[in-house]
Amino acid sequence: MDFLPILLDIRAQPCLVVGGGEVAARKTALLLRAGGRVTVLSPALNSAFDEYLATGKVAHRAASFSAGDVTGYAVIIAATDDNAVNREVAAAAKAQRVPVNVVDQPALCSFILPSIVDRSPLIVAVSSGGASPVLARLLRARLETLIPAGYGRLAALVGSFRNQVKARFKPAERRRFWERILQGPIAELVFSGRDQDARQALQQAVDDPRLTLHGGEVYLVGGGPGDPDLLTFRALRLMQQADVVVYDRLVSQPVLDLVRLEAERIYAGKERASHTLPQEDINHLLVRLAKEGKRVVRLKGGDPFIFGRGGEEIATLMNEGIPFQVVPGITAAGGCASYAGIPLTHRDYSQSVVFVTGHLQDGTMNLNWPALAQPRQTIVFYMGLLGIDILCRELIAHGLPATMPAALIQQGTMPQQRVLTGDLATLPRIVHQGQVKAPTLIIVGEVVRLRDQLNWFESSAQDSVTAARAPDPA
Ligand code: SAH
Repeated sequence: MDFLPILLDIRAQPCLVVGGGEVAARKTALLLRAGGRVTVLSPALNSAFDEYLATGKVAHRAASFSAGDVTGYAVIIAATDDNAVNREVAAAAKAQRVPVNVVDQPALCSFILPSIVDRSPLIVAVSSGGASPVLARLLRARLETLIPAGYGRLAALVGSFRNQVKARFKPAERRRFWERILQGPIAELVFSGRDQDARQALQQAVDDPRLTLHGGEVYLVGGGPGDPDLLTFRALRLMQQADVVVYDRLVSQPVLDLVRLEAERIYAGKERASHTLPQEDINHLLVRLAKEGKRVVRLKGGDPFIFGRGGEEIATLMNEGIPFQVVPGITAAGGCASYAGIPLTHRDYSQSVVFVTGHLQDGTMNLNWPALAQPRQTIVFYMGLLGIDILCRELIAHGLPATMPAALIQQGTMPQQRVLTGDLATLPRIVHQGQVKAPTLIIVGEVVRLRDQLNWFESSAQDSVTAARAPDPA
């Protein structure tokens, strides 16, 4: 280890910044954030300092540096563009054993400043010891995405309960309690900005910790249409905390692979005809697992609240008093549309978009056809493959032209994505001849034409197939 990482308390301590440029202003801002009393030494100041001077936050000494200036400071940062001056500052400070940092010159420094992720009071510092500040910054950016924005508020909340919890629990129990709290629904309340509710819930948990120590919970997580890059940060976080995952057929393998390795995996998929597990059973399975004290991720394709029966599952959980959360996912319409190059709305062609289920019930589709067959509207059919004949026929019967463009997107957002385009007259034939398989989304509307205009096929890296209008059978 080339450096000792420490966190320095500079609150109300005198700090000196030598230099008056933009870099000096950035370092000044950093020192101020940590509560330092900053003096800036420089013959002239950049306008970036205006606000600090106006509000009296920073003292300015309009002078050139001389060695005696370092006396009495807790830290010194040299940020001038004059190398000789920077060297002088470093030498003078080191002679008096005042910690000194010279910007971008690790060799002159007695301390270096790491890249930080600031979730105060939680701070993550990353340093390459000056070897590669860019690498440190890249790593910092990755950490930034991993650490929920609310971690600071969470740390503050937990800090205010520390003494209470210490008094109430023995050490081993205390650790389990905090592990549960910090990864459980109370933490998630903080992350979604409901700090007051979280405080209340935490007080309850301290007063009656049975549920926290032994209870389970269910996360209804939208896994998106297939590409794992489309998961939300929250979905990924909860997937990595799961004790057990109950997943659908629609959840792609790459998404499933991101679930914590040790988690038990239960398939509750629904094939079109043969329901693997009836919905009732799934509801009860979730309840049973949670009552066993497990953290259950109920992973669904797309978004749980769009044709995902999420509403029914949470109703059961609510009845049973099981804590749960719903995490939205990118729904198939959004994912498929953008990966296929079809904007769902467009100023000139479509002012509304409707998501409809094309699921057949008793061989028919009971939809509000007049409302669907409107001009300047995009219709997205989920589960429409089996009913393709009916839906094309009905849309035409209710006034849409047979030449209305339409697209089939099979396994959208996945490397195997296929896009077939045609119109309402040709679509059934394309399905029957093209061996189109589920999951497939159907988009009907003028916007489908834009795909050709955008020449998406040429520019897209996807292995997508654009079928010409299907040949006439004659
Ligand atoms: N909750 C899901 C939808 C479930 S209904 C969501 O929000 O996306 C199942 C239907 O979604 C499928 O029949 C298909 O029409 C559509 N679908 C889901 N994922 C898809 C994908 N990757 N490509 C094409 N269609 C998809």
